[in-house]
Amino acid sequence: MADSNPSNGVEPSDATETTSASVAVVGGGAVGVTAAHDLAERGATVTLFERDDLASGASGRAAGVLYDAYAEDVDAAVGARAMERFRAFDRTLPGFDFSPCPYVIAVREGDEDAEAVPGMVDRMREHGRDVSLLEPAELGERFPLSTDDLAVAAVGEGAGWADPGSYVVALGERAAREGVTVETDAAVELVAGAGATVRVDGEERAYDAVVVAVGAHTERFLEGGGIAVPVKPYRVQALTSRVAYGGPMTYDATAGVYFRPHPTGLLAGDGTEPFEADPDAYDREGDDWFVESVSGTLRERADHDPEVERAWAGVCTATPDGDPLLGPVAEDIFVAAGWQGHGFMRAPATGEILAEGTLASLSGAAVDDPDSPWIEAFDPNRFEGDETFEIEEGMSVSNR
Ligand SMILES: Cc1cc2nc3c(=O)[nH]c(=O)nc-3n(C[C@H](O)[C@H](O)[C@H](O)COP(=O)(O)OP(=O)(O)OC[C@H]3O[C@@H](n4cnc5c(N)ncnc54)[C@H](O)[C@@H]3O)c2cc1C
Repeated sequence: MADSNPSNGVEPSDATETTSASVAVVGGGAVGVTAAHDLAERGATVTLFERDDLASGASGRAAGVLYDAYAEDVDAAVGARAMERFRAFDRTLPGFDFSPCPYVIAVREGDEDAEAVPGMVDRMREHGRDVSLLEPAELGERFPLSTDDLAVAAVGEGAGWADPGSYVVALGERAAREGVTVETDAAVELVAGAGATVRVDGEERAYDAVVVAVGAHTERFLEGGGIAVPVKPYRVQALTSRVAYGGPMTYDATAGVYFRPHPTGLLAGDGTEPFEADPDAYDREGDDWFVESVSGTLRERADHDPEVERAWAGVCTATPDGDPLLGPVAEDIFVAAGWQGHGFMRAPATGEILAEGTLASLSGAAVDDPDSPWIEAFDPNRFEGDETFEIEEGMSVSNR
């Protein structure tokens, strides 16, 4: 990722900046709910529109793997702030729990990504992350994982997992208590050429700002308002197993499979399909090939013979450079999308930036202003909007 505005340390906000702005937040996933909550906390009059129920998009289908062990500066700062807020919400947000759990990245012999792991760990440590490089035998002594075929492994200690749907519902309820008007079953359109105006049930409503957090529908939603952005939806899959698992969260980078403890036993996933999906017509069930392939990796790596409870698919979003679009896309219209499969773990920070950036922009601050909450590397205007690009999965070692 390119370097960004170094003055934006994604510092904890004391939420003292207040406003009288009216803001429509479109999309009731983890990002939209966080932004709506944080905008209301800063005094904005907020309406949150969700076309279905809260958490009915990717957030309600996500695996809930959370970590802040990123190698790049901006990602590390965003990740750290997000984890800080998850831990705080664990104490203060009824209905939400964060479960601490180490996170293992394992790379097999013969995988050229193995060479990148020591440098990646060094950079994570430079950011103050508690991450260590382990020989396979050391990993096997510490955790119930098979390590004979591994070249190298890294363990991040400051990680954990949570149920993404419960985050959205709990924060949505808190946002409503703080004055956010939450309208569900409300599919919204952007009115072309009319600034911050949306159409709901045939009625046009004007706001000071529209915040677009519609996940896989981003490209379509903005296109309706005459705005082009390069955000492509792609399908990924996960499953739960009823067999107990007491090991760490693990990413077998060579197999492209991750797994973690789960209340029913174990949750595992990936199954990324690197081509564009239709967010209104994708298959929501897990594929047989995915179940078979993940089951094989679980047997091999964790001696876990899964009894599959459920296998499902959801839709993530990709951008040409793998970084999200987070910022203004037109006057008084702001977008947040393109998380490459990492949108839930960063939502407490990106939703906060979205809230603070929107208010800063409404008061006239430029994206590249030294004090701007926006992150320059995520500026949506770095693209023309008509780029063609390959979809790449977001969790690989080289993308970290
Ligand atoms: C199987 C799977 C596993 C994953 N695992 C992880 C993980 O372990 N860790 C992680 O960090 N991320 C993970 N992700 C990615 C994560 O789910 C997303 O990055 C994140 O949830 C995106 O949040 P969001 O709020 O941007 O979008 P969404 O949660 O998709 O929310 C967008 C909302 O907008 C609504 N909407 C769309 N159009 C309109 C409209 N016109 N009007 C009103 N509302 C509209 C949708 O109904 C939806 O509820 C996973 C995803 C999947 C599918």
